[in-house]
Amino acid sequence: MSLRGEVVAIGDELLHGALLDTNSKWLAGALERVGVVAQRFTVTGDDPALCKEALAGACERADVVVVTGGLGPTLDDRTRDVVAELLGGPLWFDEASWQQIHDWLHRRGRPVPESNRRQAMLPPGARALDNQVGTAPGFAVRVGRATLFAVPGVPREMQDMVQRHVLPATAALPGLTPTAHWWLRVLGPSEAALGERIEAWMVPGRNPAVGITASGGLLTVRVVGTAATAAEAEAACAATAAELRGLLGDWLFAEGNADLPELLVQQLTARGATVALAESCTGGQIAAQLVDVPGASAVLRGGVVAYSNACKTELLGVPTALLDQHGAVSEPVVEHMAAAIRERLDATFGVATSGIAGPEGGTADKPVGTVCFALATAAGVRSWTLRIPPLGRKFVRDRAVYEVWRALLAAQRAPTD
Ligand code: AMP
Ligand code: MG
Repeated sequence: MSLRGEVVAIGDELLHGALLDTNSKWLAGALERVGVVAQRFTVTGDDPALCKEALAGACERADVVVVTGGLGPTLDDRTRDVVAELLGGPLWFDEASWQQIHDWLHRRGRPVPESNRRQAMLPPGARALDNQVGTAPGFAVRVGRATLFAVPGVPREMQDMVQRHVLPATAALPGLTPTAHWWLRVLGPSEAALGERIEAWMVPGRNPAVGITASGGLLTVRVVGTAATAAEAEAACAATAAELRGLLGDWLFAEGNADLPELLVQQLTARGATVALAESCTGGQIAAQLVDVPGASAVLRGGVVAYSNACKTELLGVPTALLDQHGAVSEPVVEHMAAAIRERLDATFGVATSGIAGPEGGTADKPVGTVCFALATAAGVRSWTLRIPPLGRKFVRDRAVYEVWRALLAAQRAPTD
């Protein structure tokens, strides 16, 4: 059996409709990778009575409770006090934590206000978790049957501390069953069609378990296996993945859970290949997501947001006659765009997109959601058209970007030249 996890996100700002609790989502994913399945998220304001109720409940139900937020130096940050109250004892001053807070501020030439001393106070029996990204240390403490970890709310600090402290400590907890994961990334079929094809693997209680998650038109088949040892769990997942691979055929375009742009940068770098972009309806989204990946400079030559017809003509040399005859959203036009940008920027791959994101602009012939793509290589240009469900401008554009990742990743599997 896997251990049960709960996440409690604390902070008034999370309830004001201004800031989304992204910590819980990230934590659930991180915990699951070490075999702790999240059962419940609670988001609560800073009010101590509400925090206490949330923490008490979580510690009764779960084996591992991660609390984010409420560790700041100000009086409205009350996580420490609330946990001390739950444990029925006073806070104590941890000299070592104070020294670290002091040094952290001092090294940055900042004043060391007395109020920061609050951050070195710990509940009874707690062990401090040092913070290398900010001042607030976290702590780990046993509350009833649960192991509670308190970490800061600032996502960067929270993630660093969870990786360095919470996950290793959690992985060492007794009762944790070794768990392994595998991800098969699918693009093309509907969720229902995919479900039908792998139905026999999706039976409840199967180990490894097989499930589908859908996000923005991209489907991921997730395989989660448990066994007596980590190696056995991994082998079981690999065996299930091999069976599924055979069934998925062309639908499968990547494996693993890396972000697609990251995966593409890795693959392009490994081949010494480069990309140039001519983006119309995706408006630079492809370029922006590639640039998010460290190391993108090795593979991204550059691109043009060729949104207007004039830009398509002036910067990419698309003949006006071609635009008049076929329209901007057409395969001949994207083919020209992809070939032109590839040639001008001397790239291995030229990519072009042009489509109707909506809500206006659709016709009977080319309804909203029609997107044309082209991929130019040394071997020539290939174009194709998708009818993306018109579920909003963002959906259509995001789905178009996925399609480009899919096509470029598929192209990496083809032999070079
Ligand atoms: P705190 O540790 O409570 O002082 O939180 C500091 C800051 O971290 C907040 O002002 C937010 O900007 C951010 N933050 C806190 N909790 C979360 C959360 N659950 N998800 C995303 N950001 C958060
Ligand atoms: Mg706060």
